[in-house]
Formats: sequence, C-alpha cells, structure tokens
Amino acid sequence: MRLVLLGAPGSGKGTQAARLKAVLGVPHISTGDMLRAAVAAGTAMGLKAKAVMEAGQLVSDDILLGMLEERLAQDDAKAGFILDGYPRNLVQADALDHLLAKIGQPLDAVIKLEVPNTAIIGRCEIRFEAEGRADDNPDTVRKRLAIYAEQTAPVDDFYARLGTLQADDGGGELDGATSRRRQAPPSA
Ligand code: AMP
Repeated sequence: MRLVLLGAPGSGKGTQAARLKAVLGVPHISTGDMLRAAVAAGTAMGLKAKAVMEAGQLVSDDILLGMLEERLAQDDAKAGFILDGYPRNLVQADALDHLLAKIGQPLDAVIKLEVPNTAIIGRCEIRFEAEGRADDNPDTVRKRLAIYAEQTAPVDDFYARLGTLQADDGGGELDGATSRRRQAPPSA
C-alpha cells in the first residue's frame, strides 16, 4: 500500500501514520523526522535546513526530492510506504508523481486530514510544551499555517483531479471500522 497523508502542521499526520504503519506493515516516511534527524546529526543537509525549519519555512525542493528518492530506494519501502510531510507544494507533487512513475510504484491513496486551525494551534502549543520543537512556538505555527494555505493546500486539487484524494476529519483512527473517510469530489 502506497499512501500519502496530507494535512496542516498539527493535523495529526504523524499519529495517524504510526497507527497505519502497525496495520499495513509498511514504513512511515516523515520528511520532517528525516530533516530533524539530519539537523541532530549535524550533516551538511541538516546545517542547511536548520534555520529554514526553525523559521517555519519550507526547505528547498531539491534537498527534499534527493532525500526522498534515496529513502524510497531502500528495501523496506519496496512493499509500500506511508508518506507524511511530502508533497508540500505543487512542484513536489509533480516531482513525486514522476519519481513514482519512474520506479513503477504509483500511489494507491491520498488522505487529507481536515482539522480546524483553532484546534491545530492548541495542539501545537501542547506539543511545544511537551517536545520543545522550536517551530511549534505560536508565532511560527501561524507562519507555517500561512505557508500551508498558500503553498500546500493547492496540492489537494492536484490529487482530487487524479481521483486519489480522500478526506478525513482527523479525529479518529483511519484504519477503524468507524472511519469517517469520504471520497473528495474532483475540483474541476
Ligand atoms: P513536519 O514535521 O512535517 O511538520 O516538518 C517540519 C519542518 O520540516 C517543516 O516546517 C519544513 O521546514 C520542513 N519540511 C518537512 N517536509 C518538508 C517538505 N516536503 N518540503 C519542504 N520542507 C519540509
């Protein structure tokens, strides 16, 4: 199963991906986690990404694509994956489409977690207290939400047109019998 989880920062992509990983038995690939690991390890890529991430901005498309291509080439991703945090703009959505076509692994589904901004701001505040992520401070969260609205939200339409987009209110278990998923209508 090859799945992309879409949703604003704090919409619960990581939590849902961890649940789905247990059910589907495929790796959870979080570009945010990979970047944080590179920052913690002090790699050249981590050094480049650190300030950008702390400012709540997007790291360059080239870095992300290279990182993702390497990760998808690993053995555990051959059986599928749950992608969390990528694509974050239309250039990345297009690049992913080409990469997956090249390796003959098209997506099975794209799930969008829809959570109101008020709930997101509250969740990020709690995560800021618990984990101390610099980019979860309230000012940076507001910036990340603005970037999400401007650059990432258009990705929904990209997948709606392809017919792979499904929506969920992000409040429960995507794998449960009571899933509130529904097929999102194509926008055009
Ligand atoms: P996340 O944990 O997914 O919220 O990502 C944390 C931060 O990592 C983001 O605010 C960006 O700075 C960076 N990041 C993660 N994924 C991407 C991506 N696909 N494109 C650009 N930047 C990203």
